[in-house]
Amino acid sequence: MTSVLLTNSVLCCFRQPTLEWASKTLFEEIRASINNNDEEDRSFWRPVLPWGGVFTIKAGRKAISCIPLYVEVQLKNTCTIDGFLMILYVILRDNQGFHRELAVFLGKQFVEHFLYLMDSCEYTTVKMLWIWNRMSKRQYRSEIHRAALEIDLFGNEHENFTENLENLMSTTQESMCTNGGCPGRFQNFRKTTINIREQPKKKKNDDNSLSKRAKCLPNRCNGLREFSQRLFCHGPPPFVILNMQQWRSEDLSYVPYHLALCQHRYLLEGATLFNKQEHHYSAAFQIDGCWMHYDGLRSDNLILLNKPPELLLLSSLVYVRASDK
Ligand SMILES: [Zn+2]
Repeated sequence: MTSVLLTNSVLCCFRQPTLEWASKTLFEEIRASINNNDEEDRSFWRPVLPWGGVFTIKAGRKAISCIPLYVEVQLKNTCTIDGFLMILYVILRDNQGFHRELAVFLGKQFVEHFLYLMDSCEYTTVKMLWIWNRMSKRQYRSEIHRAALEIDLFGNEHENFTENLENLMSTTQESMCTNGGCPGRFQNFRKTTINIREQPKKKKNDDNSLSKRAKCLPNRCNGLREFSQRLFCHGPPPFVILNMQQWRSEDLSYVPYHLALCQHRYLLEGATLFNKQEHHYSAAFQIDGCWMHYDGLRSDNLILLNKPPELLLLSSLVYVRASDK
Protein backbone atom coordinates (compact mmCIF):
# COMPACT_ATOMS: atom_id res chain seq x y z
CA MET A 1 0.00 0.00 0.00
CA THR A 2 2.64 2.52 1.01
CA SER A 3 4.80 1.57 -1.89
CA VAL A 4 1.95 2.29 -4.29
CA LEU A 5 1.58 5.81 -2.95
CA LEU A 6 5.29 6.33 -3.00
CA THR A 7 5.63 4.93 -6.50
CA ASN A 8 3.37 7.66 -7.80
CA SER A 9 5.24 10.32 -5.90
CA VAL A 10 8.57 9.00 -7.08
CA LEU A 11 7.45 8.88 -10.67
CA CYS A 12 6.30 12.50 -10.38
CA CYS A 13 9.71 13.46 -9.06
CA PHE A 14 11.49 12.14 -12.14
CA ARG A 15 12.36 15.02 -14.37
CA GLN A 16 11.03 14.70 -17.86
CA PRO A 17 13.53 13.90 -20.56
CA THR A 18 14.81 16.97 -22.34
CA LEU A 19 16.47 17.09 -25.69
CA GLU A 20 20.12 17.74 -25.02
CA TRP A 21 21.74 17.01 -28.32
CA ALA A 22 24.95 18.75 -27.33
CA SER A 23 25.85 16.36 -24.51
CA LYS A 24 26.86 12.79 -25.17
CA THR A 25 24.78 9.91 -23.87
CA LEU A 26 26.44 7.49 -21.48
CA PHE A 27 26.44 4.96 -24.30
CA GLU A 28 28.30 7.34 -26.62
CA GLU A 29 30.84 7.98 -23.88
CA ILE A 30 31.42 4.27 -23.34
CA ARG A 31 31.73 3.72 -27.07
CA ALA A 32 34.21 6.60 -27.36
CA SER A 33 36.27 5.13 -24.52
CA ILE A 34 36.49 1.82 -26.38
CA ASN A 35 37.87 3.54 -29.44
CA ASN A 36 40.35 5.63 -27.45
CA ASN A 37 41.41 3.01 -24.95
CA ASP A 38 45.06 2.65 -24.07
CA GLU A 39 46.52 -0.67 -23.10
CA GLU A 40 47.56 0.46 -19.63
CA ASP A 41 44.13 1.35 -18.37
CA ARG A 42 41.19 -0.55 -19.79
CA SER A 43 38.57 0.62 -17.31
CA PHE A 44 35.90 3.22 -17.99
CA TRP A 45 36.82 6.55 -16.35
CA ARG A 46 33.84 6.81 -14.02
CA PRO A 47 31.59 4.47 -12.05
CA VAL A 48 28.51 3.17 -13.84
CA LEU A 49 25.59 1.66 -11.94
CA PRO A 50 27.40 0.86 -8.67
CA TRP A 51 26.06 -1.94 -6.44
CA GLY A 52 23.39 -0.94 -3.90
CA GLY A 53 22.40 2.70 -3.56
CA VAL A 54 20.64 5.21 -1.36
CA PHE A 55 17.57 6.99 -2.65
CA THR A 56 16.67 10.14 -0.73
CA ILE A 57 13.07 11.23 -0.65
CA LYS A 58 13.22 14.99 -0.91
CA ALA A 59 11.56 16.92 1.89
CA GLY A 60 8.63 19.06 0.89
CA ARG A 61 7.41 16.61 -1.71
CA LYS A 62 3.96 15.12 -1.37
CA ALA A 63 5.66 11.80 -0.64
CA ILE A 64 6.74 12.93 2.77
CA SER A 65 3.26 13.84 3.87
CA CYS A 66 1.92 10.48 2.67
CA ILE A 67 4.60 8.40 4.32
CA PRO A 68 6.23 9.95 7.35
CA LEU A 69 7.87 6.62 8.18
CA TYR A 70 11.07 6.96 6.23
CA VAL A 71 13.03 9.57 4.34
CA GLU A 72 15.42 7.40 2.40
CA VAL A 73 15.52 4.02 0.72
CA GLN A 74 18.63 1.86 1.02
CA LEU A 75 19.17 -0.78 -1.63
CA LYS A 76 21.06 -4.02 -0.96
CA ASN A 77 22.15 -6.94 -3.15
CA THR A 78 21.14 -5.14 -6.34
CA CYS A 79 23.36 -7.34 -8.54
CA THR A 80 20.25 -9.42 -9.33
CA ILE A 81 19.02 -6.50 -11.48
CA ASP A 82 22.14 -4.38 -12.15
CA GLY A 83 23.70 -6.50 -14.90
CA PHE A 84 20.46 -6.72 -16.83
CA LEU A 85 19.76 -3.00 -16.44
CA MET A 86 23.20 -2.35 -17.92
CA ILE A 87 22.62 -4.72 -20.83
CA LEU A 88 19.12 -3.34 -21.42
CA TYR A 89 20.55 0.17 -21.60
CA VAL A 90 23.25 -0.82 -24.09
CA ILE A 91 20.73 -2.69 -26.26
CA LEU A 92 18.30 0.24 -26.33
CA ARG A 93 20.96 2.84 -27.15
CA ASP A 94 22.67 0.59 -29.70
CA ASN A 95 19.48 -0.22 -31.63
CA GLN A 96 17.50 2.84 -32.66
CA GLY A 97 14.10 1.25 -33.25
CA PHE A 98 14.04 -0.97 -30.17
CA HIS A 99 12.83 1.57 -27.65
CA ARG A 100 9.59 2.03 -29.54
CA GLU A 101 9.11 -1.75 -29.66
CA LEU A 102 9.91 -2.19 -26.00
CA ALA A 103 7.51 0.62 -25.09
CA VAL A 104 4.67 -1.64 -26.23
CA PHE A 105 5.54 -4.00 -23.37
CA LEU A 106 6.96 -1.74 -20.67
CA GLY A 107 5.28 1.57 -21.47
CA LYS A 108 6.62 4.60 -23.29
CA GLN A 109 7.08 6.56 -20.07
CA PHE A 110 9.08 3.78 -18.46
CA VAL A 111 11.44 3.42 -21.41
CA GLU A 112 12.00 7.18 -21.69
CA HIS A 113 12.64 7.57 -17.96
CA PHE A 114 14.94 4.59 -17.95
CA LEU A 115 17.15 5.98 -20.74
CA TYR A 116 17.07 9.47 -19.29
CA LEU A 117 18.07 8.31 -15.80
CA MET A 118 20.92 6.15 -17.11
CA ASP A 119 22.24 9.03 -19.23
CA SER A 120 21.98 11.39 -16.24
CA CYS A 121 23.89 8.91 -14.02
CA GLU A 122 20.90 8.73 -11.64
CA TYR A 123 21.79 5.15 -10.90
CA THR A 124 19.87 4.63 -7.68
CA THR A 125 16.77 6.21 -9.18
CA VAL A 126 16.96 3.91 -12.18
CA LYS A 127 16.96 0.92 -9.81
CA MET A 128 14.00 2.38 -7.92
CA LEU A 129 12.20 2.78 -11.23
CA TRP A 130 12.71 -0.90 -11.95
CA ILE A 131 11.79 -2.08 -8.44
CA TRP A 132 8.64 -0.02 -8.04
CA ASN A 133 7.52 -0.07 -11.64
CA ARG A 134 8.29 -3.65 -12.66
CA MET A 135 8.80 -5.87 -9.63
CA SER A 136 6.06 -7.16 -7.39
CA LYS A 137 6.45 -6.77 -3.65
CA ARG A 138 6.78 -10.49 -3.04
CA GLN A 139 9.98 -10.49 -5.13
CA TYR A 140 12.06 -8.62 -2.55
CA ARG A 141 12.35 -8.15 1.18
CA SER A 142 11.80 -4.69 2.62
CA GLU A 143 11.81 -3.42 6.16
CA ILE A 144 12.09 -0.10 7.91
CA HIS A 145 15.23 0.66 9.92
CA ARG A 146 14.95 3.96 11.79
CA ALA A 147 14.11 6.48 9.08
CA ALA A 148 15.17 4.30 6.14
CA LEU A 149 13.38 1.70 4.13
CA GLU A 150 15.77 -1.13 3.32
CA ILE A 151 15.08 -3.07 0.14
CA ASP A 152 17.05 -6.29 -0.26
CA LEU A 153 17.12 -7.81 -3.74
CA PHE A 154 19.05 -10.94 -2.74
CA GLY A 155 17.81 -13.80 -4.86
CA ASN A 156 17.72 -14.97 -8.42
CA GLU A 157 18.18 -12.55 -11.30
CA HIS A 158 15.65 -14.35 -13.50
CA GLU A 159 12.98 -13.81 -10.89
CA ASN A 160 14.04 -10.24 -10.23
CA PHE A 161 14.48 -9.22 -13.83
CA THR A 162 13.54 -11.54 -16.68
CA GLU A 163 10.14 -12.50 -15.28
CA ASN A 164 9.18 -8.83 -15.05
CA LEU A 165 9.47 -8.09 -18.74
CA GLU A 166 5.73 -8.62 -19.21
CA ASN A 167 4.88 -10.57 -22.34
CA LEU A 168 8.00 -9.67 -24.27
CA MET A 169 9.22 -13.25 -24.58
CA SER A 170 5.97 -15.12 -24.15
CA THR A 171 5.55 -18.06 -26.44
CA THR A 172 2.73 -20.43 -27.11
CA GLN A 173 2.64 -24.02 -28.22
CA GLU A 174 -0.43 -26.00 -29.17
CA SER A 175 -0.81 -29.72 -28.80
CA MET A 176 -3.37 -32.30 -29.79
CA CYS A 177 -3.89 -35.86 -28.63
CA THR A 178 -4.39 -38.56 -31.26
CA ASN A 179 -7.04 -40.18 -29.06
CA GLY A 180 -10.41 -38.65 -29.97
CA GLY A 181 -11.78 -39.46 -26.53
CA CYS A 182 -8.99 -37.73 -24.60
CA PRO A 183 -10.45 -35.40 -21.96
CA GLY A 184 -7.88 -32.70 -22.64
CA ARG A 185 -7.46 -33.29 -26.34
CA PHE A 186 -6.48 -29.75 -27.41
CA GLN A 187 -4.10 -27.83 -25.21
CA ASN A 188 -2.25 -24.58 -25.35
CA PHE A 189 0.94 -24.07 -23.34
CA ARG A 190 2.01 -20.51 -22.74
CA LYS A 191 5.37 -19.58 -21.30
CA THR A 192 6.80 -16.17 -20.48
CA THR A 193 10.45 -17.11 -20.22
CA ILE A 194 12.73 -19.03 -22.52
CA ASN A 195 14.44 -22.05 -21.05
CA ILE A 196 16.71 -23.90 -23.39
CA ARG A 197 17.48 -27.40 -22.32
CA GLU A 198 20.97 -28.64 -22.78
CA GLN A 199 21.47 -29.44 -26.42
CA PRO A 200 24.53 -31.59 -26.85
CA LYS A 201 26.49 -30.78 -29.98
CA LYS A 202 25.43 -34.01 -31.72
CA LYS A 203 21.88 -32.78 -32.01
CA LYS A 204 22.88 -29.62 -33.83
CA ASN A 205 21.15 -30.49 -37.11
CA ASP A 206 18.33 -32.31 -35.51
CA ASP A 207 15.98 -29.41 -34.86
CA ASN A 208 13.02 -30.74 -36.81
CA SER A 209 13.09 -34.25 -35.45
CA LEU A 210 13.21 -33.24 -31.78
CA SER A 211 10.42 -35.04 -29.99
CA LYS A 212 7.31 -33.30 -31.29
CA ARG A 213 5.27 -36.31 -30.17
CA ALA A 214 5.01 -37.61 -26.67
CA LYS A 215 2.81 -39.94 -24.68
CA CYS A 216 -0.28 -38.14 -23.43
CA LEU A 217 0.69 -38.44 -19.78
CA PRO A 218 -1.30 -35.95 -17.73
CA ASN A 219 -4.59 -37.44 -18.90
CA ARG A 220 -3.48 -41.06 -18.55
CA CYS A 221 -4.91 -41.90 -21.95
CA ASN A 222 -3.20 -44.17 -24.46
CA GLY A 223 -2.93 -41.53 -27.14
CA LEU A 224 0.04 -39.69 -28.49
CA ARG A 225 0.29 -35.95 -28.07
CA GLU A 226 1.51 -33.96 -31.07
CA PHE A 227 3.08 -30.59 -30.43
CA SER A 228 3.11 -27.65 -32.82
CA GLN A 229 6.11 -25.37 -33.14
CA ARG A 230 6.44 -22.91 -30.29
CA LEU A 231 5.68 -19.37 -31.48
CA PHE A 232 6.11 -15.92 -30.00
CA CYS A 233 2.70 -14.55 -28.96
CA HIS A 234 3.54 -11.00 -29.99
CA GLY A 235 5.92 -11.54 -32.87
CA PRO A 236 9.70 -11.79 -32.68
CA PRO A 237 10.85 -9.60 -29.76
CA PRO A 238 13.71 -7.09 -30.11
CA PHE A 239 15.81 -9.24 -27.79
CA VAL A 240 15.56 -12.53 -25.94
CA ILE A 241 17.08 -13.63 -22.67
CA LEU A 242 17.90 -17.32 -22.37
CA ASN A 243 18.00 -18.79 -18.91
CA MET A 244 21.16 -20.90 -18.84
CA GLN A 245 21.05 -22.01 -15.22
CA GLN A 246 20.27 -25.60 -16.10
CA TRP A 247 23.21 -26.05 -18.43
CA ARG A 248 26.17 -28.07 -17.26
CA SER A 249 29.37 -26.07 -17.38
CA GLU A 250 31.03 -28.51 -19.80
CA ASP A 251 28.33 -27.76 -22.38
CA LEU A 252 28.75 -24.01 -22.18
CA SER A 253 31.63 -23.99 -24.63
CA TYR A 254 29.02 -24.70 -27.31
CA VAL A 255 27.10 -21.50 -26.70
CA PRO A 256 25.85 -20.28 -30.08
CA TYR A 257 26.73 -16.78 -31.30
CA HIS A 258 23.70 -16.79 -33.60
CA LEU A 259 20.20 -18.12 -33.09
CA ALA A 260 17.35 -18.59 -35.52
CA LEU A 261 14.00 -17.94 -33.89
CA CYS A 262 10.75 -17.53 -35.81
CA GLN A 263 12.55 -16.85 -39.07
CA HIS A 264 14.63 -14.09 -37.52
CA ARG A 265 18.30 -14.08 -36.81
CA TYR A 266 19.42 -13.23 -33.30
CA LEU A 267 22.97 -12.28 -32.40
CA LEU A 268 24.68 -12.72 -29.04
CA GLU A 269 24.93 -9.29 -27.42
CA GLY A 270 25.51 -9.97 -23.75
CA ALA A 271 25.54 -12.43 -20.90
CA THR A 272 25.15 -12.43 -17.17
CA LEU A 273 27.52 -14.43 -15.02
CA PHE A 274 26.99 -15.93 -11.61
CA ASN A 275 29.65 -16.50 -8.99
CA LYS A 276 28.27 -19.24 -6.73
CA GLN A 277 30.73 -18.76 -3.85
CA GLU A 278 29.93 -15.09 -3.51
CA HIS A 279 26.34 -15.40 -4.71
CA HIS A 280 27.09 -12.47 -6.97
CA TYR A 281 26.03 -11.61 -10.51
CA SER A 282 28.02 -9.62 -13.04
CA ALA A 283 27.50 -9.01 -16.74
CA ALA A 284 29.30 -8.82 -20.05
CA PHE A 285 28.16 -7.14 -23.24
CA GLN A 286 29.61 -6.03 -26.52
CA ILE A 287 29.74 -2.70 -28.26
CA ASP A 288 31.15 -2.54 -31.81
CA GLY A 289 32.43 -6.09 -31.41
CA CYS A 290 34.42 -5.29 -28.25
CA TRP A 291 33.45 -7.05 -25.04
CA MET A 292 33.12 -5.21 -21.74
CA HIS A 293 32.68 -6.65 -18.29
CA TYR A 294 30.46 -4.94 -15.75
CA ASP A 295 30.57 -5.64 -12.03
CA GLY A 296 28.80 -3.16 -9.75
CA LEU A 297 30.88 -4.23 -6.73
CA ARG A 298 34.23 -3.47 -8.33
CA SER A 299 35.56 0.08 -8.00
CA ASP A 300 36.34 0.20 -11.74
CA ASN A 301 33.04 -1.39 -12.58
CA LEU A 302 33.27 -1.28 -16.36
CA ILE A 303 36.31 -2.91 -17.96
CA LEU A 304 37.18 -3.49 -21.59
CA LEU A 305 38.08 -7.15 -22.18
CA ASN A 306 40.60 -8.18 -24.80
CA LYS A 307 38.67 -11.33 -25.67
CA PRO A 308 35.11 -12.62 -25.27
CA PRO A 309 34.35 -13.48 -21.64
CA GLU A 310 34.66 -16.99 -20.24
CA LEU A 311 31.11 -18.29 -20.12
CA LEU A 312 31.64 -21.02 -17.56
CA LEU A 313 29.70 -19.20 -14.87
CA LEU A 314 26.84 -18.36 -17.16
CA SER A 315 23.44 -17.38 -15.79
CA SER A 316 21.87 -16.09 -18.99
CA LEU A 317 22.54 -15.17 -22.58
CA VAL A 318 21.06 -12.11 -24.24
CA TYR A 319 20.50 -12.05 -28.00
CA VAL A 320 19.32 -9.11 -30.09
CA ARG A 321 17.31 -9.42 -33.28
CA ALA A 322 19.46 -8.73 -36.33
CA SER A 323 18.18 -6.00 -38.60
CA ASP A 324 16.51 -7.22 -41.79
CA LYS A 325 18.80 -5.16 -43.96
ZN1 LIG B 1 -4.77 -37.85 -24.54
